[in-house]
Amino acid sequence: MKLNTDRLKNNILKLGSIGRTMYGGITRLGFTDEYYKAADLFKELLEDAGLEVHIDKVGNVIGRKKGKKSEKIIMTGSHLDTVVNGGIFDGNMGAVAGLEFAYYIKENNIKLNHTIEIVGFNAEEGGEMGGTFGSRAMMGLIDLDKKGLVEKLGKYNLSIDDIKNSTIDTDRIKCFIEFHIEQGNILYENNIPIGIVSGIVGITRYKITALGESNHAGTTMMKGRKDAFQALAKLAVQSDDYISNVDDILVGTFGVVNIYPNMANVIPGKAEAILELRHMDQNVIDDTIERIKAIADSIDSAKFTFEKIISKKSCQCDKDIISIIDKVCKDNNIKYKTIHSGAGHDANAIAKKAPVGMIFVPSEKGKSHCPSEWTDWDDIEKGCEILFKTLLKIDEQI
Ligand SMILES: [Zn+2]
Repeated sequence: MKLNTDRLKNNILKLGSIGRTMYGGITRLGFTDEYYKAADLFKELLEDAGLEVHIDKVGNVIGRKKGKKSEKIIMTGSHLDTVVNGGIFDGNMGAVAGLEFAYYIKENNIKLNHTIEIVGFNAEEGGEMGGTFGSRAMMGLIDLDKKGLVEKLGKYNLSIDDIKNSTIDTDRIKCFIEFHIEQGNILYENNIPIGIVSGIVGITRYKITALGESNHAGTTMMKGRKDAFQALAKLAVQSDDYISNVDDILVGTFGVVNIYPNMANVIPGKAEAILELRHMDQNVIDDTIERIKAIADSIDSAKFTFEKIISKKSCQCDKDIISIIDKVCKDNNIKYKTIHSGAGHDANAIAKKAPVGMIFVPSEKGKSHCPSEWTDWDDIEKGCEILFKTLLKIDEQI
């Protein structure tokens, strides 16, 4: 397979550099001018590659080429937005790989059986509307009755009708294949160029509140204090020890901590944290929280309460797609490893409506969402080859 690697690289750099900051990274948040600049360029490039392109009401870019035998859609792509001061590969690489596939079929005069759609999604990285907003809107997964939605949409000049107009007939999707950087260090550490994704972890978040007793920090002796922060800190340390020893998949983070009254001369009477747990198996998450509650019960300087605030189910990639990618790797003698994704992706939203598959390439030192995010061009080329061959193989199934 002969790829135009110069064009692939140039387009990743050109599109990926929109929104460059003085801190060396890229800020191209969903719905911003930078985002729409990238979306317009992506549209122009997809048209150049021979696709019919439109930007839907919520800002997703969709390039389509009709199939000769089936209206069912083989979809590929990724998101065009970034986090604040992120890297050039996250999202952008998968979208540009889809673009390059469009060029590939055009230049090699390949007429696909199925309709192909190359998509650049808006607002995957979250923010006020929540993560994977563009793909969720497209899949009809936004709860249109949710309180406050109309006001939030208004800030982006969007209406409920705009979301409805962006939702497609998901029965027509044959599959979605997303090519993305790993964002972890498994492939990099093991020197393996390709990851076949088995699934994407579920995410559960709890708000944990520790109630102690506020008092004067100078006159209250150490013995008998009910310091809510110290109690919460003990819980965090012991939970971290426990979570670290469950298995190779479970991760847990105390990412938000607030203490009250948050003054240097007052013993904290109340402390709150948000604990996030991620795993493929919800039972493991549920068992872990029970264990953490038991640890909390053993700390007597504060009373703890737990409130579940988010619970997103894990998703499995499609078994048939996994075996096709597996075979393509074997046939091409490319080393691979089957891994789960610890990060959320647009594929997560689409999996609720259609079969999905994901192909990962290594992130140098496991870094992403920062200016030093890097993936070797050789690995990107290998990943594209696996992606293209997978798409072509799926297209044979009619
Ligand atoms: Zn991403």
